[in-house]
Amino acid sequence: MTGKVPELIRCARAIVGGEERLDFAFVVNDGRIEDAGDFAAVQARRPQAQTRSFPADRIVTPGFINGHSHAYQILLRGRGDDLPFERWRSEALYRVIPQLEPEDVYWVFVAAFSEMLGAGITSVAEFFYLNGRGNGHAEAAIRAAAATGIRLVLARAWMDAPRVPEAFRESVTQARERTRALRAEFPEANVCVAPHSLHGASEEMLRAAAAFAGEERCDLHIHVAEGEAEVELSRERYGVPPVLALDRLGVLNERSVAIHAMYLTEDEKELLATRGVRVVRCPSTNLYLGDGIADAAPLRARAVVVGLGTDANVKPSLLDEMRLAAYLEKASRRDGGALQARTAFALGTSEGARALDLPAGELATGMLADFLVLGTEGIDPWSPPVNALVYRGEAAWVQAAFVGGRRAYAGDLSPLAGEAHRETARIARRCV
Ligand SMILES: [Zn+2]
Repeated sequence: MTGKVPELIRCARAIVGGEERLDFAFVVNDGRIEDAGDFAAVQARRPQAQTRSFPADRIVTPGFINGHSHAYQILLRGRGDDLPFERWRSEALYRVIPQLEPEDVYWVFVAAFSEMLGAGITSVAEFFYLNGRGNGHAEAAIRAAAATGIRLVLARAWMDAPRVPEAFRESVTQARERTRALRAEFPEANVCVAPHSLHGASEEMLRAAAAFAGEERCDLHIHVAEGEAEVELSRERYGVPPVLALDRLGVLNERSVAIHAMYLTEDEKELLATRGVRVVRCPSTNLYLGDGIADAAPLRARAVVVGLGTDANVKPSLLDEMRLAAYLEKASRRDGGALQARTAFALGTSEGARALDLPAGELATGMLADFLVLGTEGIDPWSPPVNALVYRGEAAWVQAAFVGGRRAYAGDLSPLAGEAHRETARIARRCV
């Protein structure tokens, strides 16, 4: 599905705009969806296209969008489990990740990206902070994405706080020049700027990153109010809570993507909406680390775009994140109707893509041809497929994942993914 000949994908069943469509079709050309609609109509418009059919025991859906990930944290599985946040950070994260060489990053990222593709994730925003020794590590992450075929948004972190490991730290000048170099060399990696957080970057660095995003017209990802500790730090250092502090520093505008954004006052939620900030929530990681409950409804009610991320990658599954997003909302509001399956599905697809500024997450004309072929054995015929996916869906249902029209996952562990898992086991043993 890569050549110059347009291909017409005929789907006995497809999910379009959150609804099931029967005998739907779309035309893939040069990585994009050029036309979409009822099969007969699309075929009449595009008689030259080669037809490829998926029968009624499959359902074709948009690929899932992972809005926030640290792929190398798969190395912390086991070691980081069951620790309070501060100990998780000092005894697992800060101990293991600084030991990685670029070659290690390549293999660990191939392993993590392969898991993601197998779970239906076709795009991932990697918040990448191993930059203290230059761009070698980030380049390895970009090579890993290319090797697996996953679509990458490299949110290239900037960190200069004295307490973070040297392997993550840079001067403002280094961060700026190296990020600019990555953007020039790897346009396919969608490199954007990511000042780590109020606690990971100085005021000077935060201001510089905001200026960089403005000059380069790129997105700016930043962790915001993941825990209550950051709220305290912000009040101490800046005299106001995190969103107000970031706003004063000029960080918040329509290019900004706030990761987590959990502990917010009503005024701060309002301000995120006013500034056009997008938000990515990471429900499973917030639960795993004991950070709190990532509810989305109060932001969505203000028309803030919300996506979902697998963050610590304890189990990289957007199906799980969608399910948790729905369940946590229902439980925290004591209202079973608080966040519906169709909305949860949108957070992991169309709305998640908007959060990353990617034309993806829908089987519609003009979108990137990123889609999944799922088996339908688990989908009860009397249930809308979106509900089945959100409440019962498993990675095992994913039979194939296509990114830009290319098949990036074909239903089994590829030889490359197998090698990457062996190498990752070796690296994890070494990083004591
Ligand atoms: Zn993060």
